[in-house]
Amino acid sequence: MSERLSGSVALVTGSSSGIGEATALALAEEGASVALVARRADRLENLAEKIRAMGRKALVIPADITEEAQAREAVERTVAEFGLLDILVNNAGVMLLGPVENADVAEWERMVQVNVMGLLYCAKAALPHLLRAAEEGPRRVADLVNVSSVAGRVARPGSAVYNATKHGVGAFSEALRQEIADRRVRVSLVEPGVVATELVSHNAPEIIAESRKRFTGVVPLESADLADAIAYVVTRRANVSVNEIMVRPTAAA
Ligand code: NDP
Repeated sequence: MSERLSGSVALVTGSSSGIGEATALALAEEGASVALVARRADRLENLAEKIRAMGRKALVIPADITEEAQAREAVERTVAEFGLLDILVNNAGVMLLGPVENADVAEWERMVQVNVMGLLYCAKAALPHLLRAAEEGPRRVADLVNVSSVAGRVARPGSAVYNATKHGVGAFSEALRQEIADRRVRVSLVEPGVVATELVSHNAPEIIAESRKRFTGVVPLESADLADAIAYVVTRRANVSVNEIMVRPTAAA
């Protein structure tokens, strides 16, 4: 087992399932202590047990990141417990699909709240700690990884508002990257194609069927594939910043 993140502390949002869960495990495997943030505490507890069984430290923080105070408190608890924060993985997200006409505005609000506002709250709260870790931390560099999507690059009918949130994540990441690049905090954008997770399951059955049809013949990625990409991003030499990484299943057009 390599330990390139020994002494590092990572906070992973949305670590109760899918890509976030796999990422927390991958970063722990590399030696990091990991703060686990999502709403489903039982899932986080199970994951924390696995991480502790690997000989690593895990902190369970049940939180709804759409509440600014909860996002801030999650970051502060992590720093209070582990003494620093040098990796934030902004992964939590929701994807509620369907045409704009007749859409449920509450679903749009939820996507904007989680995918955009939640990510911004966590980034803002973590930033002073990331900047400090870049100065004084074990790696003399810190990482803010934002999980966007192929949908943050390519807009399609039926996912307009999800597209809008993920394009927003891309724009925010690039602007922030330029703002703090000379202070050794790397801002990276990870853009998955279709991954086998719970993400699509929050949609109506006909939307799920439509989505499956679109990917006929494509074997979805596994969460571990994205965890691998994120682990790659945060384990580069301090002078190497992977700004953007898009990962699709091989057969996806
Ligand atoms: P999952 O549905 O498995 O994971 C989403 C995570 O977000 C869950 O852990 C969920 O935890 C968390 N979450 C949702 N709302 C909140 C909230 N208000 N506060 C805190 N946590 C929240 O899906 P994925 O693993 O697939 O999604 C992870 C990221 O990857 C998302 O940003 C998604 O947009 C992106 N992505 C996924 C793709 C795919 O095909 N799966 C493709 C491209 C991008 P809980 O419910 O416990 O709060």
